[in-house]
Amino acid sequence: MAETITHIVLFKYRPDISWTDFESHFETFMALRTKCLHPSTNKPYMLSLRAGKNRSWEPFSKGMTHGFVLEFANQDDLDYYLTADAVHLAFSKAAAPLIEDSVVVDIRDGILFGPPAKRPGLGSGEYSGACHCGEMAWMARLEKAEHVLCHCGTCRRLGGGPYSCNQIVPREDLKITRGEPRVYIYKGASGKDVRCYFCGTCTSHIYHHQDAMPDKVIVRTLLLEGGDKMPATGEIFAEGRLGWVKELQESLVNGVK
Ligand SMILES: [Zn+2]
Ligand SMILES: [Zn+2]
Repeated sequence: MAETITHIVLFKYRPDISWTDFESHFETFMALRTKCLHPSTNKPYMLSLRAGKNRSWEPFSKGMTHGFVLEFANQDDLDYYLTADAVHLAFSKAAAPLIEDSVVVDIRDGILFGPPAKRPGLGSGEYSGACHCGEMAWMARLEKAEHVLCHCGTCRRLGGGPYSCNQIVPREDLKITRGEPRVYIYKGASGKDVRCYFCGTCTSHIYHHQDAMPDKVIVRTLLLEGGDKMPATGEIFAEGRLGWVKELQESLVNGVK
């Protein structure tokens, strides 16, 4: 069982959460053992799940109140659990407000040296997107599930944030499946027209199309399902990066792929 991975999670819960919230969170967590199903076998794939409150009298818990020890048959299963298992992802999203801090360590029994596991990409595939109000929906095909950040002044002005998250894809790889976008046309850096397609009701930006790149569209990747899990792997107009956007440099330099 050299492949077996033990995934160790320590949580420090917020002191102000209600007992009901905590209890249902805990029950949902325990149920992951049987509710998380493998995509190919459709059977539970978590080998074991143990959990409990910290009872150590030593002053070394760093405030962590509960421990969870999960076993997976291999790294692929753990990667699936972390990045793609819809049951687990829904649980994580609901659990986030209850947790103040956490520690996560993955070990392979007896392996004392070596590099960390490679961070998985979400893989190529079709990703659904939706605007804020829900009137518009679309599907985008990505070769790699990742963001390229744009620090240009136009993105800042249109989006109201320090940068936008994008990917350039062939035009046929984006399909609007619900609603009709409105369009705003402006002159891009190339001097040619750029069309910005957005939801006419809630103004969410869906994609851009440039006359300079007629066969491609620039898709807003953070509006796609799972976008919050995709790594940022590149940036353009980096000279426009705002001084306080520092953590980006670190993750881009470390080259999460
Ligand atoms: Zn909308
Ligand atoms: Zn831009």
